[in-house]
Amino acid sequence: MLNNFFLKKKNVKYIFVCGGVMSGVGKGIATSSIARILAWHGYQTTCIKIDPYVNVDAGTMNPVEHGEVFVLKDGTECDQDMGHYERFLNKELTKENYMTTGSVYLSLIQKERSLYFDGKCVEVVPHVPLEVIDKINKAQKLSKADIVITEIGGTIGEYQNLLFLEAVRILKLKYPQDVLLIMVSYLPYQGEGMELKTKPTQYAIRSLNSAGLQPDFILARAIIPLDDNRKQKIAFNCNLNPDDVISAPDENNIYKIPLNFEKDKLGIKILSKLKLRPKRSLANGRSLWIKRLEQIRRATKEIKIGIVGKYFKTGDFVLSDSYISVIEAIKHASWFLGYLPKIDWLNADEFEINSSNLSILKNYHGIIIPGGFGSRGVEGKIMAIKYCRQNKIPCFGLCYGLQLMIVEFARNICGLKGAHTTEVNPKTKYPVVDILEEQKKLLKEKLYGGTMRLGDWECQIKKGTIAYEAYKKIYVNQRKQPAFISVLERHRHRYEINPKYHKILQKYGFVFSGTSQKGILVEIGELPQKIHPFFLGTQFHPEFKSRFLHPHPLFVEFIRASSLNAA
Ligand code: GLN
Repeated sequence: MLNNFFLKKKNVKYIFVCGGVMSGVGKGIATSSIARILAWHGYQTTCIKIDPYVNVDAGTMNPVEHGEVFVLKDGTECDQDMGHYERFLNKELTKENYMTTGSVYLSLIQKERSLYFDGKCVEVVPHVPLEVIDKINKAQKLSKADIVITEIGGTIGEYQNLLFLEAVRILKLKYPQDVLLIMVSYLPYQGEGMELKTKPTQYAIRSLNSAGLQPDFILARAIIPLDDNRKQKIAFNCNLNPDDVISAPDENNIYKIPLNFEKDKLGIKILSKLKLRPKRSLANGRSLWIKRLEQIRRATKEIKIGIVGKYFKTGDFVLSDSYISVIEAIKHASWFLGYLPKIDWLNADEFEINSSNLSILKNYHGIIIPGGFGSRGVEGKIMAIKYCRQNKIPCFGLCYGLQLMIVEFARNICGLKGAHTTEVNPKTKYPVVDILEEQKKLLKEKLYGGTMRLGDWECQIKKGTIAYEAYKKIYVNQRKQPAFISVLERHRHRYEINPKYHKILQKYGFVFSGTSQKGILVEIGELPQKIHPFFLGTQFHPEFKSRFLHPHPLFVEFIRASSLNAA
């Protein structure tokens, strides 16, 4: 029955990664690591994330519940795992690399409405799984990947991801040699003798079997490495060869995980099951990665960075999930400069309750004011910005962070008392941050999903500024220095620095070092270095483009400025 459907291109291989026992088992890092290892072996790889929820994308979801909304260059608002893929692979992905139940149904229904199916009955099976396969093939075609690694969100045994597993079953049935399924499973460390327990994994495999699937590998996630006994036990009970049960212990640094998998020779084992040979020596492929890890191991000096946000009493876990790209970007830049970052959450509400709490900011080498929405904690953030400006503490504002730096500067330096962003006070006398006309129309019509200023926009950076010096190191050949450097950076916001106030802000000394073409929109603002060591904000989110081996130039400059206090 499937002969009528185009299923896959010759020579392309597929790996699917699913999760057993519980959510948050590390599928995203496992998927990124597998793609990284296979790239070290000389293969072109790409990663796809499937989220089982009905939302068309992650843009409308609450980051405190779901974690950070990551943004791709084409403006796709997606799951934070996409950020891990980009950081591990050093590649830019696009909307084809991300799908949800909602987006699959949406495109299928659009096809049906345009008579694509010639009046045939469109059914949940096989049409939904075939639409999934179609999307995977599109991503493969665009990336020209030899091997596509697809992560299936959710946990085995739940109802939501069954149609995605059905897509794996269909592909595996047709191309048994070209499709692998890897289950990342969790082993609790418990019991009288404190041992790793394999039973939950055995049950997860039974559920997977009932979907008509058998994994080719199990990655055994646990707080400690898997011992031989447990390996044998999982293999025996789950119909696997013990060699195909891979130890995946907790790590203090996620970038070590590909190397851990390689201790069990996962790369070679995957290639041999796919009837492929390594294309280049592993040692060559991974040498820079190992060098950076070695640099981190040798680092001794700590750099303390505070992130001022509006925090719910949810504990560190949720917070680190909501700001994951910012945290990774701080780490990449700090490691690059030979520092060990120590990151703390500073609650903006505390500053509002009592301004004497601001003195805690002095304990940090640098402060970040991250992106955000809404009014809670805003005055506290503005107080923190003022404190950093007056006390010359390096301060880096990201998106909302820049907007609030402008509000603070307008109120306290330009004398515009009560200046604000119209996001918080629509009636302010001085709307120094305001929504653009076209955005107003969208909101009136309740068109919230996918309508912000999103994805890559060109930014021109002016010579003689901190931003220029930062980007210059990467973008410019030292001998020839143009008047502007042009870069692409990723956005996600509705409000902008109000063009009506550009003049007065500049008159009082704020420098617009990065602007959109023709200088219409402010993309980077900063105070001159002779006034402050680092007081800079971006309308875009530089954290989305930071990579393990390629830290973002503005984060490097921020950490460098902060390190002057750390010495
Ligand atoms: N709330 C602000 C806006 O929409 C900033 C958004 C952000 O920080 N990502 O413009």
